[in-house]
Amino acid sequence: MAFSAELFATTAVRGGVTPDPATGAVLTPIYQSTTYHQQAVGVHKGFTYSRAANPTVSALEAALGALEDTPPAVCFATGMAAISSLFLAILKSDDHVVVSDVVYGGTVRLFQQILTNFGVQASFVDTSNPQAIAEAIRPNTKLVFIETPANPTLKLTDIAAVAKVTHAAGIRLAVDNTFLTPVLQRPLDLGADITLLSTTKYIEGHNSTVGGSIATRDEALLERLRLVRKTLGCIQSPQESWLTLRGLKTLPLRLQQHSANAQKVAEWLERHPKIASVHFPGLASFPQFALAQNQQSLPGGMLAFELKGGAEAGIQLMNTVRLCLLAENLGAVETLITHPVSMTHGDVPCDIRERTGITDGLVRLSVGLENSADIIADLETALAAIEVTESKEAEPCLAK
Ligand code: PLP
Repeated sequence: MAFSAELFATTAVRGGVTPDPATGAVLTPIYQSTTYHQQAVGVHKGFTYSRAANPTVSALEAALGALEDTPPAVCFATGMAAISSLFLAILKSDDHVVVSDVVYGGTVRLFQQILTNFGVQASFVDTSNPQAIAEAIRPNTKLVFIETPANPTLKLTDIAAVAKVTHAAGIRLAVDNTFLTPVLQRPLDLGADITLLSTTKYIEGHNSTVGGSIATRDEALLERLRLVRKTLGCIQSPQESWLTLRGLKTLPLRLQQHSANAQKVAEWLERHPKIASVHFPGLASFPQFALAQNQQSLPGGMLAFELKGGAEAGIQLMNTVRLCLLAENLGAVETLITHPVSMTHGDVPCDIRERTGITDGLVRLSVGLENSADIIADLETALAAIEVTESKEAEPCLAK
């Protein structure tokens, strides 16, 4: 699938935002107001209280809807607030969900430590195999929730193939599209019913905010999501929405460069003698390279790798790099290096980690917008300092 940043350029810069009718301000102002004057009882301009809706948040929702080709999205305080609200909007006690076995650790924690207390059942399934999904569906299954590419191993799920399975079973399909955004992957056009983003990542893109959004063409579901959000009180703040709106304007250009930089770093890593494996959808050696070519228009800016020296060497590397910052988060202009097992995926049970390749030595890299030569030079210096070149023994699953 060919990529053209131009295809999304106008929507990203202008979508959903019109000059402020009161002042002509080109950017939607930050409406920092809790409440709104009502002309008479029951007569208002669509805003009553900022826990329910806020004009700056609404502008972001319109912009994201324009990008997704849906009605305005629903924006939340964080990506996890969006995911939690989706489940609360759709599920009730004794319902069952099929979830990708590789997903962001917070999604696993939500099921295993929270939703299970309310009688919601979840099966973590290898969704890269649509047949495994078909087999996991039960009479009480209400939702299939996939993440592709998945955090942190980059495993892909074939969205169109899974949509066929879910539609045949009369079940909704939700896709966490955080790693690619609608600019690089179009889940709704491939048959998914719901698409979800942690806007914290590429959408805002500058390590400045946390946020989440859900888009769907199902108006009743949008209404229900707004009800859940108002009731839980997890709307995004106007300040965060404004920053996210600003970040969104350069999203297509940033993603193009993130992807180009990641391709160079991945190819370099793959050739390095101390590297055991690189997971990156843009490498011909990636097991799902053909699916990546077909389903996403660029590989994206995320990659993961393992060192020949296993966990010890991986941890040494993460402790040695200088330009690559050891930090949680991804999708921002700064290159961030992450140790999933001790950071983002610490709450994923050992058996799932072992089964899915989230090893103690896995290193995740969110390739930023610095000069790729500088990123590579930093990794080269850190790799040169590593003395462990063989994995000592079968790696233990690091205790929590
Ligand atoms: N989905 C994915 C794929 C993520 O990587 C993350 C966070 O890392 C989330 C959802 C949760 O988003 P947030 O941190 O904004 O709550």
